Amino acid sequence: MHCQCVHEFGRPLRSDDRPDLAPQGTEVVLSVTAAGVCHTDLHIRDGGYDLGRGRKLEFAKRGISLPLVMGHETAGKVVATGPDAGNIDTRKTYVVYPWIGCGTCAVCKGGNEQLCGTPKFLGIHVDGGYATQIRVPHPKYLFEIGNMPPETAAPLACSGLTAFGALKKVENTLKDHAPLIIGAGGLGLMCAQLLRAMGAQAPVFVDLDPVKREAALAAGACAAIDPSAPDVVAEIHAAAGGAPLAVIDFVGAETTAELGFNAVSKGGTYVVVGLFGGGAPWSLPLIALKSITIRGSYAGSPGEFAQLMELARKGEISPIPTTRYQLDEAEAVLNRLAEGKIIGRAVLTGVGDYLPEAADQRVR
Ligand SMILES: [Zn+2]
Ligand SMILES: [Zn+2]
Repeated sequence: MHCQCVHEFGRPLRSDDRPDLAPQGTEVVLSVTAAGVCHTDLHIRDGGYDLGRGRKLEFAKRGISLPLVMGHETAGKVVATGPDAGNIDTRKTYVVYPWIGCGTCAVCKGGNEQLCGTPKFLGIHVDGGYATQIRVPHPKYLFEIGNMPPETAAPLACSGLTAFGALKKVENTLKDHAPLIIGAGGLGLMCAQLLRAMGAQAPVFVDLDPVKREAALAAGACAAIDPSAPDVVAEIHAAAGGAPLAVIDFVGAETTAELGFNAVSKGGTYVVVGLFGGGAPWSLPLIALKSITIRGSYAGSPGEFAQLMELARKGEISPIPTTRYQLDEAEAVLNRLAEGKIIGRAVLTGVGDYLPEAADQRVR
């Protein structure tokens, strides 16, 4: 097999050739046909997150060991199965659920492997999809993509699931009450589509960028509000027909946390998804007086991914625009992503039928 590999944090990826993967037990090996390139991958390659004020979250101290094949948004076909993997349809293309836990702790047994304390996330803790082959520990992590192109299905495992997982936290409010969504970037717009597919009320958006507010309206928002307006909370309440019972924050900054808290209804829920950073701005007595729930959301569970894939297979989610690249362009693609030059999602495709000559010609 051929892969693009992190050997040293802060250094370019390296091309490696290794023996083909041989599955054991319940494992399956897929020939990769699409591997999404995510912003998280940039942070992994660079070795951590900048936490501001000179602080850094270092992956080397967080159990991420090298060499590592990145890529947590992977689609492909099964080419080999372990003796205990059972029968798998090798004609179908699957997208891989990557947020895999230990499988034995209380959190995993409760169905939330994405929250396991000893994660084995594909492409983050163990080898992922920037390769011609990927090893998956059990076929239960494979989800059929139906008629979707693999490059459309692969990113659902990350951005799609993150948006869906956040909405599931407030699902009981969505039929009758418009939620407030803070941030009209990729995840926010994905939410607008999912809300429609779930038969929910059209959301109210806030975003500083007028272009993104237009995009939110085009995606089905009932209103898109500029958060710098002095009466922004009153505007939100007017647009939502009252204080929203659910607020989802895809930014996660101190300013948006304050806005979400001020806008949410008494008894409502404010969900933080974005990782912009900072400290909590809320007054403790007001949390009690408003009796609100403040909670986080990270990716989504295997059960939620099954539901999301069902919606996607029915064609109820329109594809995110994608640009295709060859596997050996991974380093160049990461650099373009860092420069903000990738429109939509970059996906490494044709990965399973890798042709070194073709890739060499396309490297830019
Ligand atoms: Zn991702
Ligand atoms: Zn676990």
